[in-house]
Amino acid sequence: MDNELREENVNKKKRGRKRYVLITYVFLGLFLLLLVRLLFFTAVESEDFINSSYNPRLTKLSETVVRGKIKTSDDVIVAETITNDDKTEVRNYPKGPMYAHAVGYSVNGSLGAEKDFNFRMMRSHIFFLKRIYLELSGEKLPGDDLVLTIDSKLQEAAYYGMGDYDGAVIALEPDTGKVLCMVSKPDFDPNTIKADWDSIISDSTSSVLLNRTTQGLYPPGSVAKVLTALEMMEEGKADTFSYECEGEEEREGYTIHCYRSTAHGTEDFASAFADSCNVAFGNMGLMLDKNRLSLLSDRLLFNKKLPTALSNTEKSSFNITDNDPEALVMQTAIGQGKTLVTPLHMAMLASAVANEGVIKEPFISDSIENADGGVVKTYKGKTYGSVMTKEEAEKMKELMRLVITDGTGQGLLSDDYTAYGKTGTAEYSSDKDKTHSWFMGFAEKDGRKIAAAVIMEGAGTSSAHAIPLTKSLFDTYFQNE
Ligand SMILES: [Zn+2]
Repeated sequence: MDNELREENVNKKKRGRKRYVLITYVFLGLFLLLLVRLLFFTAVESEDFINSSYNPRLTKLSETVVRGKIKTSDDVIVAETITNDDKTEVRNYPKGPMYAHAVGYSVNGSLGAEKDFNFRMMRSHIFFLKRIYLELSGEKLPGDDLVLTIDSKLQEAAYYGMGDYDGAVIALEPDTGKVLCMVSKPDFDPNTIKADWDSIISDSTSSVLLNRTTQGLYPPGSVAKVLTALEMMEEGKADTFSYECEGEEEREGYTIHCYRSTAHGTEDFASAFADSCNVAFGNMGLMLDKNRLSLLSDRLLFNKKLPTALSNTEKSSFNITDNDPEALVMQTAIGQGKTLVTPLHMAMLASAVANEGVIKEPFISDSIENADGGVVKTYKGKTYGSVMTKEEAEKMKELMRLVITDGTGQGLLSDDYTAYGKTGTAEYSSDKDKTHSWFMGFAEKDGRKIAAAVIMEGAGTSSAHAIPLTKSLFDTYFQNE
C-alpha cells in the first residue's frame, strides 16, 4: 500500500514536471516566434513601411532625429541639415545643381538618393551613452549619414564637361556596379526647389526633374553597332564579312550615308566597326536572322526593366521582325531606326564587355555611417549575370580597342591607361546636321576599370564633344589612385 502510494506520488510528480516542461516550451516557442517576427519587421518590413513619405512615423522621427548627411565616396558633403538658432531646420546642398538628380531633394515628394534612402537618414545609431545624454537633455539625435559611391572629382569633370549642353553622363565600376558619377542636364538647384516648384511644374516644356541618365530615351546612333556586331559574331558571319563602301547606298528609295558620305572603300568586319561604316553595317543588318537578333536584344536588356538598385529607370526599346522593309532593317542596324536607349543601359553594356560579359547591378550608395563615422550598414552589390560569353566579350573588346587606335575614337588614346569604346552620332530630326554626340566604352589600368556612357544633345560629332568629355573622366579616374 505504502509502495503504491509512493509510486502514485512519484508518477504525479513526473506528470507535473512534464506539464511544467511543456508549458515552458510553449512559452519559449511563443517568445521565439515573437522575436523572429520583430526582427523580420525591423530588418525587412519596417523600411518599406516607414520609408513612405506619407507615413506618420517619419514625421514622428523628424521630431527626434536631425536628418543625416549625404557624402561622396571621397568624403565631400553634398547634403546636410542646418539647424538655425530658432531650431528651424534647412536642408542645404553645398554643391547646388551639380548633384541635382543623383542626390535629389527631400521636399515635394522627394527625388534621387534623398528619396531612396529617406528612412536611413532618419534613424540614429550613435553610441548609446551619447544617445541617452542627448535624450535626457531634450536634444535631437544626429541621423545616420549616407555614403554615395560617387567620386566628387569625376562628378565635377562630368558636370563641367557638359558645358551648356543638355544630356547625360554616367560612369560605373564594371566589377562592382558602383555608380562613379551621374550628371543630367538641364538641372535645377535643390537649395531653391521649394521656391522654384510652381514655375517648374507649370512649365510643361520643362524637363529639369527628369534624370536623363536613367530616364532619357535617345536614338543610339552608331553605339547600336555593338548589338549588330555581336549578332554577326553569334551567327558566325563576322570573319568572312567584307563590303565595298562608296560612301552611300540606296535601297527602296532610302539612302544610307557614311559620315559626310566619305567612301570607306573595302571594309572587313573589324574595320567597319572602327570606322563606324554605316553602309557596311546596314548591309550586315540585311544578312542577319531577325528572330535571333530580337532574342539577342532581349538578352542585352532591351525592352525590359534594367536590373539595378537605382530608381526611376526607363526601358530601352528595340524591335525588328522579318516583315520590316529593308530600309528599316538597315536603319536599325546602324541605330537610326525606332530603337531608343537610356545612357545607363549603354554604360551597363560597356561594363559587361569590360567585365567578361557579366553585368553587376548598378547602385549608388554602399554604406551607412552613424554621426561619428562608424559603419552601420554596408552594401556590396549584386550580380545580374552574363549577357555575352567571355569569348564574345573578349572579341568585342578587340573591336572597341580598334575604334580608339585606328578609328573614330582616337581622342581617347592615352599613355596612362587603355581605352575601348564606340562612338555615335545620332540623327534626331530630318535635318541631318542635327545630331547627338554619343560615346560608350571603358578604360583599364592594372586591373582598375571604369565604364561610361555620355550623350550630349545636339552637340554634333562625338570626336568634338562626347570623346573629350570621356577623356577628362578617364584621366581624372586614373590620376585618382
Ligand atoms: Zn562607309
